[in-house]
Amino acid sequence: MLVKVLFTLVFLGIMVGVGIYSRKQSRSVDGFVLGGRSVGPWLTAFAYGTSYFSAVVFVGYAGQFGWKYGLSSTWIGVGNAVIGSMLAWLVLARRTRLMTQHIQSRTMPDFFGTRFDSEGLRVVASVIAFIFLIPYTAGVYMGISKLFETGFGVPYVYCAWTMAILTAVYVILGGYKATAINDFIQGVIMLLGITTVIAVVLNHQGGLVAAVAKMAEAAPNADDLGHPGAALYANFRAGDFASLFGPNGWSLLGVVVLTSLGTWGLPQMVGKFYSITDESAIRRGTIISTLFAVVVAGGCYFLGGFGRLFVPTAFNAGTGRFAFDSIVPTMLGQNLPDVLMALVLLLVLSASMSTLASLVLTSSSTMTLDLIYRDRKSIEEEVSEGKIDDTITARIERRKVVVMRVLIVFFIVLSLMIALNPPHFIAQLMGISWGALAGAFLAPFMYGLYGRWVTRGAVWTSFAWGVGLTVVNMILGNPMNPINCGAVAMLGGMVVVPLVSLFTPKLPSEHLDLVFRCYGERTRDPREEPFLEEKKTCGYCAEGEYLAAYGIKIGELPASKVYLFKEQSHRGRVIVAAKLHVSELTALTAAERNRFFADVDRVARAIHTLYRPDKVNYGAYGDTGHHLHFHLVPKYANEAFEWGGTFAMNPKRTFLDDAAYDEMVKAYRRALALG
Ligand SMILES: [Zn+2]
Repeated sequence: MLVKVLFTLVFLGIMVGVGIYSRKQSRSVDGFVLGGRSVGPWLTAFAYGTSYFSAVVFVGYAGQFGWKYGLSSTWIGVGNAVIGSMLAWLVLARRTRLMTQHIQSRTMPDFFGTRFDSEGLRVVASVIAFIFLIPYTAGVYMGISKLFETGFGVPYVYCAWTMAILTAVYVILGGYKATAINDFIQGVIMLLGITTVIAVVLNHQGGLVAAVAKMAEAAPNADDLGHPGAALYANFRAGDFASLFGPNGWSLLGVVVLTSLGTWGLPQMVGKFYSITDESAIRRGTIISTLFAVVVAGGCYFLGGFGRLFVPTAFNAGTGRFAFDSIVPTMLGQNLPDVLMALVLLLVLSASMSTLASLVLTSSSTMTLDLIYRDRKSIEEEVSEGKIDDTITARIERRKVVVMRVLIVFFIVLSLMIALNPPHFIAQLMGISWGALAGAFLAPFMYGLYGRWVTRGAVWTSFAWGVGLTVVNMILGNPMNPINCGAVAMLGGMVVVPLVSLFTPKLPSEHLDLVFRCYGERTRDPREEPFLEEKKTCGYCAEGEYLAAYGIKIGELPASKVYLFKEQSHRGRVIVAAKLHVSELTALTAAERNRFFADVDRVARAIHTLYRPDKVNYGAYGDTGHHLHFHLVPKYANEAFEWGGTFAMNPKRTFLDDAAYDEMVKAYRRALALG
């Protein structure tokens, strides 16, 4: 017992510590909700994986589907890794990052509102998110209940309270950054826990080969065949619990689709892509999150597949229902020594706290930004000169963060109350929340990132279809199994959106031009027209040999590209170039200019941190090349060179070797949080 308590206390202490550590970055809305949009690949990938897999998966789903499909339930884990992680990253991550940054949207409802230029869509999307995220959140607590009662003899009520309070503390203190760092720690615990548990449990059955042989002899028992759901085994053949596709491949496919494709339309999952730093972070994040899912989801379902070897029947004669949630706790209770049980306790707490944190952060930001403040962020070109007063903006931003923190407490308390004593109706909503959210949002979100052809009418229809189908099915007493219903809602949306788009009015092309300018294949910016010839040999546009003549690319920030200047008489000298090839500062809109200077400021801070100059000089010349850029030149009083005077364009006196340049680029990338 002492071990369990000690482990848990250390763990909880670290969680709170991270919250305190991340406090500084959580003062603005972007900092609080998106970690300043500068979260690297490891943190993002782990945040994605840990939000994906909660105790509902480890305890509930693994037990239930392992019982129903035997070892073939491992396909669910494989699907979660390939479709739910790898493909989701490949298809959605890059475009989500670029488009949400471009239209300055910080939540999924805001994406719908701005992308489709409709206040109605934004409000309705946030209402849908709100209604279904709360039961979803409550469901997260339920996942831990059985394990704590059967496995630890600790009343579930205490655990639920502890989890709620701790999560509230670190999310409120540190916002998304704290959540992401804690997700990482929790993710490591999940990886360790699951691999160890599988090894120990299989060992008790005489190793992998012996355990699989026993599963091949297993068959549905009298309870399975005598109750609703027996249809699953209509075509059962001997050995199916160890066969490739199990007793019912089609039914299994439904589960794979719901649990894998569903993440594509869940606001708290897609939201992870908003804050990732850059393209290379996306590539690495794709690999990391896929491997994470292979181990965690693959491991959970694989383990659950052996349930029949440990539990004689999943049917509870007392309640007259199948008690799938007690299968995994029973397996563990029979096999694990005390220390490992402590690890499992942390594993389950980790899985649940990370999902909980991500859900309440998503709910509170949606509620604050989309319903209370309704701050429809206009697309940058629409903001005219002088419209926004910076001090007022800053004050409103701070107020929003306060509101979000209050709402986090509210949501956590609300979901805790629901979880401790779920009203019948909400318990039902819990079962369909995943299907309803993904059914409504998945298709319009995904198509909206890619196609100019998606219409407002199609988005409305998809909302009505996803929510309508799942809710009607629930009210009718689930004629279709809720899981299959969720899968139908999602796949149906993929057909509904293109179909309705054919018959409803398109969005105006000027609006679409603005929105789609964020991608590489952007519509040509009219402001670059006079320079098209010049762009071909411009170092900042064409890069390659033209850049190599004087600079080395460090990376890209939201509104600029950053280069190390090869001439290093002033140690640390860099260039910050605008993303557009325009000559004058006056060619930028107010919003573009603000973002450009935010980048200049970010680079200057990096210079001060890395090289501690006595003064940074800022110079923007460009009489002949017409690409707006600033030279940021650190000056040192003790070196006297050009101190007190104007720095030369290119004094041609100090050049370094490749290794030294490389070192500087790496230092800058770290200081700029470019991963
Ligand atoms: Zn250029």
